[in-house]
Amino acid sequence: MTDEQRRARYLDALGIEQWVRRAASAERVTASRTVVPAAVGQSVASITEGEKVDKLDWPALRSCVSECRRCSLHQTRTQTVFGVGDTAAHWMVVGEAPGSEEDRQGEPFVGAAGQLLTAMLAAIDLPRESVFIANILKCRPPDNRDPKPEEVAECLPYLHRQVSLVQPRIILAFGRVAAQNLLGTDTPLGKLRGAVHRFGALNTPVIVTYHPAYLLRSPGEKRKAWEDLKFARQTYSELHVEA
Ligand code: URA
Repeated sequence: MTDEQRRARYLDALGIEQWVRRAASAERVTASRTVVPAAVGQSVASITEGEKVDKLDWPALRSCVSECRRCSLHQTRTQTVFGVGDTAAHWMVVGEAPGSEEDRQGEPFVGAAGQLLTAMLAAIDLPRESVFIANILKCRPPDNRDPKPEEVAECLPYLHRQVSLVQPRIILAFGRVAAQNLLGTDTPLGKLRGAVHRFGALNTPVIVTYHPAYLLRSPGEKRKAWEDLKFARQTYSELHVEA
């Protein structure tokens, strides 16, 4: 299958009809980067209670998350879901929380919604392995209920540290829970779309779009998600953040 055919398939998954074939895009230059596998045993000295999350390096952070008991979700999880991908990625993806499949496999976005997420990323020329994917919560809420504020409060420092370590050029927030918690707002998702928001000390641009699980339930909204993805691509280019 050619790249063009693969791209057409991804766009098809998004419900996007292609009218015009574009000239082949410029060759992407990818520096060699470390990829964090989904779950790897770490031989790291245990993290003491007092140690600050915002000082931890990757192995210590992973170990800290895997042992976390800061909220009651540790009682019902199979395992924590730390995050996966390129630790030097230009693009970071933030979702809500692990679902049942993620809880089972220890990797974010591996269920049905994950397959659509992978297609959405590919549609804007982002292979899944080229981004870093994490969630607001590292543990699955039972029955896939919404995260509680106290769970988010305990877990968010881990995501902040992940963003500080990756230092992405742009963040894509998928869904209301990810967007509102990243941006510290209760503005509805529909009103957050189509704007460049900023996150954290590095003022990282954040673009908001629909959660793939929502798109699976409401395929009629896929076109809007495609607009958001193109807006994110354009924002990334305009900010002149190519490597
Ligand atoms: N939904 C999310 O928000 N994150 C996952 O990892 C899986 C489903």
